[in-house]
Amino acid sequence: MKRLVYAIIALILTNNICGATPMEAKEETNNNAAYEITMKQDILVFMMAYPEYVVNAQKGEGGKVYLIMKSGKKILYDDMKKKSQDEKFYNADLQDVLEQVYPLNHDGGLMDINYDPGRVRNYQLLNEVYGYSNEGISKNLVNVSGGGGNHRFNKNNGAADSLKKALKELAAKDVQKSTAQGDYLFPINGTFNYRQISGTGLLSPHAYGIALDLSSNSKDYWKWANRQEGEKRMKAYPKATVNIFENNNFVWGGKWGHFDILHFEYRPEIIIKAKYFGDNKERKVWYEGVPIDENIKGYINNIENSLK
Ligand SMILES: [Zn+2]
Repeated sequence: MKRLVYAIIALILTNNICGATPMEAKEETNNNAAYEITMKQDILVFMMAYPEYVVNAQKGEGGKVYLIMKSGKKILYDDMKKKSQDEKFYNADLQDVLEQVYPLNHDGGLMDINYDPGRVRNYQLLNEVYGYSNEGISKNLVNVSGGGGNHRFNKNNGAADSLKKALKELAAKDVQKSTAQGDYLFPINGTFNYRQISGTGLLSPHAYGIALDLSSNSKDYWKWANRQEGEKRMKAYPKATVNIFENNNFVWGGKWGHFDILHFEYRPEIIIKAKYFGDNKERKVWYEGVPIDENIKGYINNIENSLK
């Protein structure tokens, strides 16, 4: 009898330790709600960033969420795997791409070593939008003139048009004066180049014709210089140049822990997320803060209907 009582007490204790207390259950519900909100915001961001390529979202088996592309291809939002930052870099799902928020108004030094917003890329998405091979991508390239030369850039999803606009804005006299022209901007060191990122086996964004390198300095890249040297160069870099590129949906490699200071990359999803969902403030509805027009209203409706 005594033994039975002990067994029951032990059972009660174990249940209390292992089972979820009401507090924990509440926390889990809150976490799930926060996850759902971020997921919807991220899907909306991809729809806004790639309007001609993303046609809808879908909830499939096991609650897995996909972006539906114009071609009919589905791209998984979240593989639900626990990954290190390095693993995310090599095998990013869409959620990984938007996880680290790009610091639009950053005015300090180098980012933490593993803070690389925009350096994580989803190759299924890039292939769908910009082309699947050297040949496929090459067909989408156009010449953008500016900065004393012609630069091959991908015309899809507004990339070449955005570069054209940025170069035009950079050519304005007041910008030239404030950015110490020549030291930082020109000569442009390259745009399209079908190559891999050195030492990774992954295609460079230059291979898609969506990145450009400005005037090169020996302290520009995390493999060429130590963090102290990189930070000095990063802090001296003209803000007007960075602002013009960011306003045209380019991210700057100077805001990566793995710094790449001469590198700018057309990544509308990173800039849109930073602009509208870059803060942690409480929202009345998950899409609060986004400028609502007819298109965006349609995207929100699609998300609400597809991801119930
Ligand atoms: Zn580059």
